[in-house]
Amino acid sequence: MMFSAGFAHADAKNPKIGFSIDDLRLERWARDRDYFLAAAEKLGAKVYVQSADASEQRQIAQIENLISRGVDVLVIVPYNSTVLNSAIREAKKAKIKVVSYDRLILNADVDAYISFDNKAVGELQAQSLVAQKPKGNYYLLGGAPTDNNAKILREGQLKVLQPLADKGDIRIVGKQWVKDWSASEAMAIVENALTANGNKIDAVVASNDATAGGAIQALSTQKLAGKVVVSGQDADLAAVRRVIAGTQTMTVYKPLRQIATSAANLAVQLVRNQKPAYNAQLNNGFKNVDSLLLKPVLLNKSNVDVLVKDGFYTQNQLAGK
Ligand code: BGC
Repeated sequence: MMFSAGFAHADAKNPKIGFSIDDLRLERWARDRDYFLAAAEKLGAKVYVQSADASEQRQIAQIENLISRGVDVLVIVPYNSTVLNSAIREAKKAKIKVVSYDRLILNADVDAYISFDNKAVGELQAQSLVAQKPKGNYYLLGGAPTDNNAKILREGQLKVLQPLADKGDIRIVGKQWVKDWSASEAMAIVENALTANGNKIDAVVASNDATAGGAIQALSTQKLAGKVVVSGQDADLAAVRRVIAGTQTMTVYKPLRQIATSAANLAVQLVRNQKPAYNAQLNNGFKNVDSLLLKPVLLNKSNVDVLVKDGFYTQNQLAGK
């Protein structure tokens, strides 16, 4: 058998891809997996999928296992962005390419990063709330502190909100990160924030739909659901229904077929030593990582039908049938 120099063990015709996902128990990541598998199989690749179920030890063990199975490329949605450097060093030693998927892996030698433009997501969230409530008390409900996206989202949100706070139009009355993006944790945080502020909160800048759901539960106990504006992200089915019902102001639709398909392409191109198309570079503390950032779509009551047109949901699903 003949191998070309540079990827001694790689089978460029039928690459083996290890897909290590933080947590397949969540709606969004299960969709990413399905679209990814479909796209990768079309390209002649074989995919091994692992879910770490929100455990950094489990994710490291699973990545080591994928390395010893001889995959050609690892595609990783990190649970904790900061703890994968030695696992990735092992992968690189074995000439395995590494793609960081959706969340940037920090301080490690990754070959490529693919995501939606998270800063733009944060801006869309803040802009939508400000359009409804140009004045008032804002609470910043961040994502998981282990997730680099949470920080970028916050940057995007503050790019819009800080100038308004400086002018005195809005007041940022508190901020908090939500461990593991957990809905119940988000609910407890917003309950406390309401108590601390005598219910005088006008806007909750929630960074995704799971945490928005928790926030809205806390608001509804105080009969404030629908009065306080709340942002979100992911177009989770429950969230889109809340947008239709008016208890959640907006969500951000990220066409997952697009990221999953582009990621499968990119992974296979790396194995085949072809040059993928990038449109950004992000510094991860180790190097400037070649990145492909896709465009997120603002979704509110006026355009939820985009989801039906795109085949993301059926009309019946949106109607709760
Ligand atoms: C993703 C979001 C998701 C969140 C929780 C973030 O890194 O970008 O789409 O809601 O993780 O899983």
